[in-house]
Parts: sequence; C-alpha cells; structure tokens
Amino acid sequence: MKSYRQQSWRIDFFLVYTFVLFVFGFPSVATVFGNEEVVVYSARKEHLIKPVIDAYTKETGVEVKLITDKAAPLLVRLKAEGKNTPADLFITVDAGNLWQAAEQGVLLPVTSNRLEANIPTHLRDPQRRWFGLSVRARTIVYSTRKVKPSDLSTYEDLGTPTWKGRVCLRTSKKVYNQSLVAMMISELGETKSEEIVKTWVGNLATDVFSNDTKVMEAIIAGQCDVGIVNTYYYGRLKRKDPALPIALFWPNQKGRGVHVNISGGGVTRHSRHRKSAIRLLEWLSSTSAQNLFADGNLEYPVNPAAKPAPEVAAWGPFKPDQINVSKAGELQKKAIKLMDRAGYR
Ligand code: FE
Repeated sequence: MKSYRQQSWRIDFFLVYTFVLFVFGFPSVATVFGNEEVVVYSARKEHLIKPVIDAYTKETGVEVKLITDKAAPLLVRLKAEGKNTPADLFITVDAGNLWQAAEQGVLLPVTSNRLEANIPTHLRDPQRRWFGLSVRARTIVYSTRKVKPSDLSTYEDLGTPTWKGRVCLRTSKKVYNQSLVAMMISELGETKSEEIVKTWVGNLATDVFSNDTKVMEAIIAGQCDVGIVNTYYYGRLKRKDPALPIALFWPNQKGRGVHVNISGGGVTRHSRHRKSAIRLLEWLSSTSAQNLFADGNLEYPVNPAAKPAPEVAAWGPFKPDQINVSKAGELQKKAIKLMDRAGYR
C-alpha cells in the first residue's frame, strides 16, 4: 500500500508538470505572465499609426509589432497566411476596404461594450467585425477667387449647367470615390445616382486626377473652380500655405449630410492574442487616444466625447451623413459599374 507521503509527492509532481505545460506550452509565456504582445497589420501609414502605438506601449507596457503596407497586399498576406498569421489586428482606411476584408473572412466579430459605447452605430460594422477609429469627410472644395459659398449647395448640384467646364475630380479607381458613389446609391438609388455622375463627367474641366491634392492644385492654378476631396488633404495644403485661394464647403446640409468615411480596424480570425487585440482596439476608441489617432492626419475622432483638433474645428461644424458606412462596401461593385457606365474614368 502506498504511503500518504508517496501519493502527495505524485500530486505535487502532477501540479508542477501542469504548471510547466501551462507556462511553456500554452499560448505563450508572455500571455501567462501578463506581458502581452499584439501584432498589427496596418494600411494606415507608418508615420500616422506609429506614434499612437508607441503611446499605447508606454501606457500599458504591451509590446506591439507593427507591419505597414497598402491595404490590398496586407489582405492578400492575411489570407495566404491563414491560421499561421501572426496578425492580431488589421487596420486600414475606408469602410470599402474593411468591408472587403470582412467579406473575405479574415476578421472575426468582437463583442465589446466599450467599443459600442465609444463608436456611433453608423461608423462600425453591424456584424461587429470592424470598427471606425477616425472619421474622414469627403466634401466640396472651391476657388475663393471664382466661387461664392452661396453658389454651392449639394454634390448633385455640381452636375448642373452652372458648373459646365468648371469641375475637377479624382479618378473613379480610388476607393474614396467608389465609397462616395456607393453611399449616393444607398440614398438616391442607382438610376438617380447614375444621372448625377453622368452630369459630373459632363462638367469636367479636364481629365480626372490621380489624387486629391492634384485636384486642389488644379483649382489653385485656375484650371477648374470646384472639386471633391477629403478634408485632411486640404488641411495639409493649407498648413504649407495658409493664403491658398481655396476653401471647403459642406454640402447637402439640408438633406443627407456630408459624405463621411472611416479608417478603422478589426480583430483577425486567427489572432493568437485576441483579448490583447480587443484591448488595443478599445484603447484606440477611448477619448484620450482618439485625438492621437485622428489629429495626426487632421481627421475627426469617431468618439463624440473627443473634440477635433483646433485646426480641424476651424473648418466649421457640419452635419455628416448618418447612413451606416458598411453600405460603401456592400454597394462598391454597383458603384464601380455605374461610374464606368457614366464614363467616369
Ligand atoms: Fe487618403
């Protein structure tokens, strides 16, 4: 018969063995000791996201590995890596891109009271796979030399005879314009939206441009009088030269409001540090982190408790479109086909 001492020794050995297995064999030593780490794949540019991530590490001690690239290659990489991906969080710009990532199955839904409290409903995925972290307004920019703000009213109005040969637009290949048209489809329907886009094309002063800055430079150069841009590009130009003869106009204020999009993120399907990834996402949506995240690119916070930077607030308040930004993804294909039919290159 075994003595009590022998049995007790075996129980102790079992406990130690389980502990060793738990510590060294189970997810990672770091997780067990609370020394978390998170891997972020970010299509938000390194110089914008790095200072925010550094602040998180400083505040929490959590190590964050940051890998930045364009949205498309990051998504291809996430899919190719599958279960072996080191990525815990995917951060990108435009709801159209986030929607694509979710549709392709690389994100898993997150249930978080903090995220839901911090981020308005229309700026996050109804299926909780991605969450907006900053708001980007896509609005009308005009020549202060040739246009009075009272001449302007809506996006649709840029297609009326008043603006014949006076409009500059960025290419329809850019997701920003696909999202703008997608949101228009969701509110006005396909037929009406196609008519409007056709009239825009008919009013173009010149070929479409490859980016928003070139649209504004064309207005400054007198090549055209109005255009549509994301406000942070305007902010960047204005920073360099406050005397630039262009200004922002907030359209559709009596109707659906200014078109807004987001940059945002979601937790990957195969994340090995899911809790840590959620904690980082929650932190990014918090009032204090929101300004770090949005102000670096002159964007607007998603969290209504955070106020935009003074430089951004100076552009004045506006009524934003409240339709859920996921529509930008859902209707993206329709928008691309519509723009093609309308001759918008
Ligand atoms: Fe941009």
